[in-house]
Amino acid sequence: MKSELTILGCRAGAPSRNVAAPGYLLTHGDQQILIDCGPGVAMGLTANAGHDGLSAIIVSHEHADHCLDLLALAYYRRFPVALPPVPLYGPPRLKRALDLLDEAFDIPTLPTLSRPLAAAFPFTPIVPGQGFAIGELRVDTMRSQHPVETLCLRFPDLGVVYTADGALSDALVHFAGAARLLLSEATYPTPDGHNLLEHGHMTAFQAGTLAREAQAETLILTHLSDYSQAALTYREARRAFGGHTVLASPGLHLSW
Ligand SMILES: [Zn+2]
Ligand SMILES: [Zn+2]
Repeated sequence: MKSELTILGCRAGAPSRNVAAPGYLLTHGDQQILIDCGPGVAMGLTANAGHDGLSAIIVSHEHADHCLDLLALAYYRRFPVALPPVPLYGPPRLKRALDLLDEAFDIPTLPTLSRPLAAAFPFTPIVPGQGFAIGELRVDTMRSQHPVETLCLRFPDLGVVYTADGALSDALVHFAGAARLLLSEATYPTPDGHNLLEHGHMTAFQAGTLAREAQAETLILTHLSDYSQAALTYREARRAFGGHTVLASPGLHLSW
């Protein structure tokens, strides 16, 4: 069965210069899974024909650059015509952010937009380490080393691993072992004085190290904080990893 990954957004923090915050569309057969939904992703989904056929959404964690466009997507799916609900999976902590957004942006005079997120996306909390399934597709999770509860994702049937946000660790290398496609954050081109263990992110060199130690086939570098340094990011990752390496960019599409 054919699988595809489309990059909808890949910039850490906020959208800028037509690069949305993180969002990825993974399709396998008739399953369409949106992974993360940062600012700008709802628009990217429209451009990539993902909106109406979504099977599920997985949000890695509650940071705004990974979840804020859920609200835009919920409005789209509830107004003017209410589309079928789409199951949403995320760490238990995400519920707090969903409830706060629903409370703040509730439109009580328009029943379809009353608590839009709860109505559009029924939420199933996933405790890090817990596996689950979307249709027949299995999903493994692990808690990443990030300041808030964050899910790394692995689709063992597809050989796809997504680090989400997090520092390099032995556990992550093990989790990503032999990935066919490793979608790894590479937030900083170089350390530049950041305490990355405390801050819970990787440099491009560390993303390359992860790919090398995990013996990944293809490395996609994403969650870049500065696209003007993309060439440096690529070079730094390649210093550590000699395999196939790709810089994420909106609309990038891989199929296998
Ligand atoms: Zn982030
Ligand atoms: Zn984060």
